[in-house]
Amino acid sequence: MRSQAWCPVLVSIVVLYGSQCMTETLQAEEGRWAVAIHGGAMGRLGPDGQQRRAQMEASLERVLQKAVAELTAGASSLDVVEMVVKALEDDPLFNAGRGAVLNADGHHELDASIMEGRNLRCGAVAAVRTVKNPISLARLVMEKTQHVLLVAEGAEAFAEQMQVARAEPEYFRTPERVSEWERLRSRQSPDGQAFLRESDLPFGTVGCVARDRSGNLAAATSTGGIAFKKFGRVGDSPIIGAGTYADNQTCAVSCTGRGEEFIRRAVAFQVALQMRLRDVPLDQAAQAVLDQLPPASGGLIAVDHRGNVVVRFNTPAMARAWAAEGQPPMVVLGQ
Ligand code: ASP
Repeated sequence: MRSQAWCPVLVSIVVLYGSQCMTETLQAEEGRWAVAIHGGAMGRLGPDGQQRRAQMEASLERVLQKAVAELTAGASSLDVVEMVVKALEDDPLFNAGRGAVLNADGHHELDASIMEGRNLRCGAVAAVRTVKNPISLARLVMEKTQHVLLVAEGAEAFAEQMQVARAEPEYFRTPERVSEWERLRSRQSPDGQAFLRESDLPFGTVGCVARDRSGNLAAATSTGGIAFKKFGRVGDSPIIGAGTYADNQTCAVSCTGRGEEFIRRAVAFQVALQMRLRDVPLDQAAQAVLDQLPPASGGLIAVDHRGNVVVRFNTPAMARAWAAEGQPPMVVLGQ
């Protein structure tokens, strides 16, 4: 299930745009299911990252297989995107749920959102600290409240009411994240901000988009945010229209990268809007929006109402996996 497995029969375009923009498109036949997953936009993978890379690939492969089995069996896109993101939140390799990055104060603050393209229903949570699966809490916000976004203490109180699984800080904290935090702290500038280099690019945010057999689209995204972020900082992942969007008329999108850039440009919504207003296909819409982003700021996965899958990023790497009915599944981390 690696990049070598590319089949020439597929419409598979791998092009390098400008300095560094990676693009992949998979055309599915109408009426069929399709799914794409990301495990975060990344900087260059150093030699010591090889083991982590292999582990991430194996993990994405496992969860992709599960998604394929469920979509084949007729599961809804909403259930599938939640299942995928939940599994990756439980996996300490990724920057979501267990294994999330630490903020400047050494705590984790988790963000997630989910959206259904059938009816534009959506839910999100931000800055939660005790919830094992923020994506499931986001779904409960969507299904059990009149609201879209609950944050911090309010979201924690809602988690209590909903009796979702909670955990102590130790559950989320991994030795890798603690050493990352210590490294960033040692590089702090006088204004209290750590200098982020390309190699410190956000690593491991997770997301999933899917189209089910009934033609319904869904998107979900979950993250610990940017390492060493200021306390209370909220990125694009829980912002509907920035990090996540789904509309059956156009597409479902999940983003990853420097959240502030994605919020400024309402990236996820813009992809859908470009399709709707300019009547362009998904790959052109995604490229037009990505072109507006500064270099090395991130990427996105998307699936349209016909089941075409698109992956775009302008970072050195992005963990990604995708499949569509009747076509071989793929898992790729680097270019
Ligand atoms: N977009 C996320 C954020 O800014 C981080 C990421 O995708 O890695 O919080």
